[in-house]
Amino acid sequence: MQNDKIILSVATTGSWPAKAQNPALPVTPEEIAQAAVACWREGAAIVHVHVRDDSGTMTCDPARFRRVRELIRTQGCDILINFTTSGGAGRVDETERFNSLETGPELASLDAGSMNFNERVFLNPPAFLEELARRMLAANVKPEIEVFDSGMIGNALTLIERGLIKPPLWWQFVLGVKGGTPATARSLLHLVDGLPAGSLWSVCAVGSHQLPMNMLAIAMGGHARTGLEDNLYYRRGELAGSNAQLVARLARIARECGREPATPAEARQMLGLVERGR
Ligand code: ZN
Repeated sequence: MQNDKIILSVATTGSWPAKAQNPALPVTPEEIAQAAVACWREGAAIVHVHVRDDSGTMTCDPARFRRVRELIRTQGCDILINFTTSGGAGRVDETERFNSLETGPELASLDAGSMNFNERVFLNPPAFLEELARRMLAANVKPEIEVFDSGMIGNALTLIERGLIKPPLWWQFVLGVKGGTPATARSLLHLVDGLPAGSLWSVCAVGSHQLPMNMLAIAMGGHARTGLEDNLYYRRGELAGSNAQLVARLARIARECGREPATPAEARQMLGLVERGR
């Protein structure tokens, strides 16, 4: 095992889920911050944040990202905050996707390649990835390298070899998206085998794949992400009551397997954020 401690992430909101699908989905900055704090109390070390406008539509407005962070910190919560740069997978243009970096998050997502994403095209061309990695490096923002398909590891390795992404490397496998790698044990093994030595990796998966893939990650010595961005249900036919409910279950299972959830301070150590002066 890389480390007995497990870094639990929660993706509270995403770009696409709607309250009409699950009323527990947090969409306002207040709701998102409240969800983050509740998940931190249950063992989450990282919150992955997307923000919405007043109509509930995804936005890259930096003021909204700042507001979420401020509301989290004023509650005395030190959870690691990871702002998205995904732009809703084809919903906004490239330049808007850099907006969240202006706010100086500790972590931000870097979607490491292009793909068909359900019915959309998620464009992350080489020049965009290079610019994104350069901006993150300049702003001292650690990339969470999002991998939806095995070729994306190779794209990220190009950036790593050029010194644009520094170790320790933090990978998030997003499995089961239509157009990406399926959420299977065989796929996960293949992806993990493709990582450079010393990498830290986490798994999330969409819909009903979320829990079994999280459990595989626990067993394999990886880390895990849950939350309503990826899955709106607690179990078949039963909507999740909150993000915190999903985190609490994951933390319980991890503990039963001897994997105590890392605190945000421990996660910062593991991810090299302390050395980076954050
Ligand atoms: Zn996301």
